Amino acid sequence: MRTRLVLTCEHAGKRVPREHAALFRGASRVLASHRGWDPGALTLARALGRATDVEVLACTWTRLLVEPNRSLGHPRLFSSYTRGLDAEQREQVVERYWRPHRARVERALDAAARKGRALHVAVHSFTPVLDGEPRPFEIGLLYDPRRRWERELARHWRALLRQAAPELRVRLNRPYKGTSDGLTTAERKRLPDRRYAGIELELNQAVLAGPRRAEVTRALVASLRGLLD
Ligand SMILES: [Zn+2]
Repeated sequence: MRTRLVLTCEHAGKRVPREHAALFRGASRVLASHRGWDPGALTLARALGRATDVEVLACTWTRLLVEPNRSLGHPRLFSSYTRGLDAEQREQVVERYWRPHRARVERALDAAARKGRALHVAVHSFTPVLDGEPRPFEIGLLYDPRRRWERELARHWRALLRQAAPELRVRLNRPYKGTSDGLTTAERKRLPDRRYAGIELELNQAVLAGPRRAEVTRALVASLRGLLD
């Protein structure tokens, strides 16, 4: 069965739509921090896209407006900046800034799954220290251990990464669990194991902002190509 890659980037940018600029007045530092977006994730996703000839489906609105990696109804779908909007305004934010990315990703996944099977790689980055807790590794691969194809892919990818760059520390289901609410979790409910694998690729932001970025990107490109072979 042919495997087709779908690349997405949910926290690609920190844009605020003009109609909601007032909500974020004085918040430029928060917007620019890891709370507002995933620094470095889109650049990496595009490098992977160029290497595999796949378009990156990216959401460039700040996650503080509405969180594209949470399901509708999740308590953290809206942030402290947007939670105070009334029900009608929230619905409008969902329609304009949440639903289009979700719909685009689902169309791409359905097209890939119809002709074979879809390997969905959602590219993210994580802050090296969260709430005083260091995260001493470069790469996390998040997946659902109950899904056989995903489990195999995550382990295989880790092995290929170790081949490409033995010093890289790759962790499975760290710094988050692949089964927590998110885009891949939602897609697993729509698409069966044999047609869909959703892996969140999590990169340490210290690596993406530092001198090892090119080397890590090369290792990811080589290993992703190997995974698709
Ligand atoms: Zn993210």
